[in-house]
Amino acid sequence: MPESPDYEPVIGLEIHIQLQTETKMFCGCKLEFGAEPNTHTCPVCLGHPGALPMTNEQAVEYAIRVGLALGCEIAPRSIFHRKNYFYPDNPKAYQISQYDIPICSGGRLGDVRIHRAHLEEDAAKLTHVGESGRIHGSDASLVDFNRGGTPLIEIVTEPDIHDPAEAREWLTLLRETIRQLGVSDVNMEEGSLRADGNVSIRPVGSKELGVKTELKNMNSFRFLERGIAAEIERQKAIVASGGRVEQETLHFDPASGSLTSLRSKEEAHDYRYFPEPDLLPLAPSPEHVEEVRASLPELPAERRVRYESELGLSPDAAKLLAYDAALASFYEEAVAAEPDVDPIVVANWVTGELVAASREAGFEHPAETKADAAGVGAVARMVDGKEISRGSGRELLAELVANGGDPAEVSERLGLTSDDGDDLAAIVAAAIEAQPDAAAKVKAGEGKAIGAIIGVVMRETKGRADGGEATRLIREQLGL
Ligand code: ADP
Ligand code: ZN
Ligand code: MG
Repeated sequence: MPESPDYEPVIGLEIHIQLQTETKMFCGCKLEFGAEPNTHTCPVCLGHPGALPMTNEQAVEYAIRVGLALGCEIAPRSIFHRKNYFYPDNPKAYQISQYDIPICSGGRLGDVRIHRAHLEEDAAKLTHVGESGRIHGSDASLVDFNRGGTPLIEIVTEPDIHDPAEAREWLTLLRETIRQLGVSDVNMEEGSLRADGNVSIRPVGSKELGVKTELKNMNSFRFLERGIAAEIERQKAIVASGGRVEQETLHFDPASGSLTSLRSKEEAHDYRYFPEPDLLPLAPSPEHVEEVRASLPELPAERRVRYESELGLSPDAAKLLAYDAALASFYEEAVAAEPDVDPIVVANWVTGELVAASREAGFEHPAETKADAAGVGAVARMVDGKEISRGSGRELLAELVANGGDPAEVSERLGLTSDDGDDLAAIVAAAIEAQPDAAAKVKAGEGKAIGAIIGVVMRETKGRADGGEATRLIREQLGL
């Protein structure tokens, strides 16, 4: 059998996000998740003939915010189209969307280019009730028109992603960015963020795109990651056995890990888009766009760059902190409280010990423990300044996480500050005396033998001694 070439996955994402405006996209109905079904409806969103839509200015402003945050161009003039399809979630038999001229185009977030982002309206919510709701012997579906007409922004990426985990990570960055813009609660369980994954493979080195399939309606980033991974394997297997990938839309079942076809290319819809005659074009003035730009907060991607370039954090630490707004502000508060401590040292405590201690203590988020930012900063300073050992610092932090308090007082109360240099030197001297064989080996150049002496030091200090400092003292006392 000839050697088969290696294949590279190519992934592009399409994300629908509900904008959290007061009212719907084209009518005055209130938006309220979880309301009694069909209580927020009117002739416009129920598609009554002759009812006229009006564009929600707040939704347009939110779309501009999203577009600018993603580095897009905001079109000086864009229009709405009717996307025609027949389904019970849509009483007009068309969705108002944007087609050839979206409000936002081009852009980038992290390592992924944005193709476009456009405004549209959501469909009504269908609930398939099956047996329990059978009508005339058939399974039944219920329609809730409250969701119909909710403003959506659809974000379409370029196919720049090459691995399922990267897709998940990037979606997390996007979600955090949108959340911090304050335009959506981006809650996947409630359906305010929905992601589709487009997947193809191609021989490594090839620049051409392969035939893609589309994974629809994934309701968690983890499932999307797993679904994309399964689809890549499926495509590789097809190609390996001499077959060809067919263009189709797939459903991934996370429970069984299986992929099933929803529709093939032949069944693809022809939406017969045409310009919406009842709505004016969107034409935001350049001044307005600049006002919106000026009002944007610092966003995760920029913050990450600042943490790396100004504070000197590693890319991993910068990402961990910057992509999580609550952790980022906690970290910055800790840094501000301890201007003499290297921000890298503070970052290590926050991303390392604090994250671990809060998980251990069962907190949902490291910024929500009983330890405040200044306290964590103080622990970093005390250990960094050799006031207490690293082990003591860990113990102190665990206590602050569980019960809070003033770091100096707590460390006094726990007796953590007593292991000062002289004491440690004495403990080291005793440990050397207790381990004469190990001491001889270390002197003879057998570096590993030092472990036995350090073991005694740690036992005597209940793990509170600073390992580095203990090693230094042992070598010093052995005349090395
Ligand atoms: P369609 O016409 O099927 O809607 P688009 O060109 O509009 O396809 O792209 C939709 C999404 O699919 C985008 O996110 C895009 O990046 C992605 N995409 C397009 N072609 C491919 C491909 N060959 N492999 C993976 N993703 C792709
Ligand atoms: Zn309405
Ligand atoms: Mg498309």
